[in-house]
Amino acid sequence: MEGNYQRLEHLGEGTYATVYKGRSPKGELVALKEIHLDPEEGAPSTAIREISLMKELDHENVLKLLDVVHTETKLMLVFEYMDKDLKRYMDASGNHGALPPQTIKVLMYQLFKGIKYCHDMRVLHRDLKPQNLLINSRNQLKIGDFGLARAVGIPVNTFSNEVVTLWYRAPDVLLGSRNYSNTIDIWSAGCIMAEMYTGRPLFAGSSNDDQLLKIFRIMGTPSEATWPGVSKLPNWKNNFPPYPPQRLEQHLPQMDPYAIDLLKKLLVYDPNLRWEAARCLTHPYFQDLWQPTPQHPLQMPAQLQEQHLQQLLQQQQQQQQQQQQQEQHLQRLHLQQQQQQQQQQQQHQMRLQLLQQQQQHQQQQQQQQGINAHHVHAIPPHPPAPGQHYPHPQ
Ligand code: AMP
Repeated sequence: MEGNYQRLEHLGEGTYATVYKGRSPKGELVALKEIHLDPEEGAPSTAIREISLMKELDHENVLKLLDVVHTETKLMLVFEYMDKDLKRYMDASGNHGALPPQTIKVLMYQLFKGIKYCHDMRVLHRDLKPQNLLINSRNQLKIGDFGLARAVGIPVNTFSNEVVTLWYRAPDVLLGSRNYSNTIDIWSAGCIMAEMYTGRPLFAGSSNDDQLLKIFRIMGTPSEATWPGVSKLPNWKNNFPPYPPQRLEQHLPQMDPYAIDLLKKLLVYDPNLRWEAARCLTHPYFQDLWQPTPQHPLQMPAQLQEQHLQQLLQQQQQQQQQQQQQEQHLQRLHLQQQQQQQQQQQQHQMRLQLLQQQQQHQQQQQQQQGINAHHVHAIPPHPPAPGQHYPHPQ
């Protein structure tokens, strides 16, 4: 007995705790998560405060924290009971771990709904991975441990002394950024999505640096151009090998173009450009999960209306861009014509000038010849002798 809870079999070792199946005083199945505390420090008051906040979270895609039992040596969190975590679900029902595309879509949609809810409540997860996404027999996905990383801190080892997995950690966290934003959870969601398609982790690093290099090899080594501020992060090294980015489609041929497009919005280096969960839910990848499209846009559900509107706006933008391009093309043609005309005019004028010069030259020559002839007759070979007169011109 732990508090009023009956402890049943051992379920697993988590990052923060040992998990047991249990039964509540009302006879309901529960998961008992036991966090062993440092006997000298006890339960830090911040942890207690954070965990109390977790009790306020109430959403269909977030694992419900039912109760908190606090003794001197341990903290016991009582959660609703779920059948499996996503890792076990993939191993059990997947094809070598890979899940059918439609199942992935349904799970990803629920994952984003859960993340959106917690982010709206200003709670970050910071350690999302398949082991803490729980799934019940109705294929309902619930996120476990939301807020726990902040409450307890991200440990280096799990309770069974395994090294905490870094495979889902965002590059900003790996590079030592302290400005955690919502989108650190979105990077993890991207890694989980890719893994559901292939059955294998996308970036399986063995240490902080190895994890970064595994990411760089596929996504390309980031730079100030692709991620402003990256070189100022504490763990940045100027001698990281400069890998060029690869095409995700090549690594993930199992993913359809919509899935790949969404993934590209999640695995973005710059945390400010990574999509938020609310936006991910509006991505056309999820289109077939929304209700069938009614005839009139105003009869559509709010989310679809917005989508429809965005599509229209995009079309308008594209049309405007095309028009602008056509106008620019026309202007360029017009300019070229003008330049050609100017050149022709200039050539014409030059020819005219040349002709005029030739004519002038000829005239001058003729005049010169005339003058010379005149002078031959008019100028006496010598000055007249005294008493003589110049001969009269004829
Ligand atoms: P965690 O600390 O959340 O990573 O939990 C460790 C393991 O315990 C998970 O991988 C699950 O297999 C199991 N587990 C955690 N929470 C629950 C739950 N609410 N229901 C059933 N199993 C759970």
